[in-house]
Amino acid sequence: MDRTHRWARVCYDTHAPTAYSGVQALFGIVQGGTIPEFRDESTELVTSIPFDGYAIGGLAVGETKEEMHRITRQVCEGLPSDKPRYLMGVGSPEDLVNGVALGVDMFDCVLPTRVARNGALFTPTGRINIANRRYGDQDVPLDETCDCYACQHYSAAYLRHLFKAGEMLGPRMASVHNLRFVLRLMEQMRDAIAGGRFVEFRDRFLGAYQPTDEQSRQTQKHRWIRERGV
Ligand SMILES: [Zn+2]
Repeated sequence: MDRTHRWARVCYDTHAPTAYSGVQALFGIVQGGTIPEFRDESTELVTSIPFDGYAIGGLAVGETKEEMHRITRQVCEGLPSDKPRYLMGVGSPEDLVNGVALGVDMFDCVLPTRVARNGALFTPTGRINIANRRYGDQDVPLDETCDCYACQHYSAAYLRHLFKAGEMLGPRMASVHNLRFVLRLMEQMRDAIAGGRFVEFRDRFLGAYQPTDEQSRQTQKHRWIRERGV
């Protein structure tokens, strides 16, 4: 971690005096894997540099969800409360809700579009596969509560047809829907926090949303990595 911390200092010292300071936000990244002592050390060192915000790196890389939550909670407790926190590489809808509950403000992840290309779409009750036969005669939108372009213009049956026919519009519309789903989820969480009812929102969401099980999550991720040759 020493090299990472030296690099953080060099990065700050190089960028802070430039014209970008105050225009672009520079974040320090806390590392340390899943080892609690390393995380504490990294949190202390990185937060000693006055970055605009702090990121939690080195998670969502194959560790269990329990480990990810444990480390996220630990690091968040050591971050300043007046700077934004960013959990890198997360994640699924349930991970976003759990992350916010642990004190995270920002996320980034390829998951919404990566799974959309394979026909997996987010709904308030969990992730579904649009190629499933049951959607063949669903002449209403996949998610009637969704205001995305796909749900406003196309039925679930038509989206299924697009995937079955190998039409490029299928993955595109699925991506539009999944991105809107996660952005709307973040909007709903912001509203719930502002209204003082986040815990109620979290419990209701997690009670209704069926997460993808760990095994199929890992299988899909490995298949995706193999296809990309990384
Ligand atoms: Zn939609």
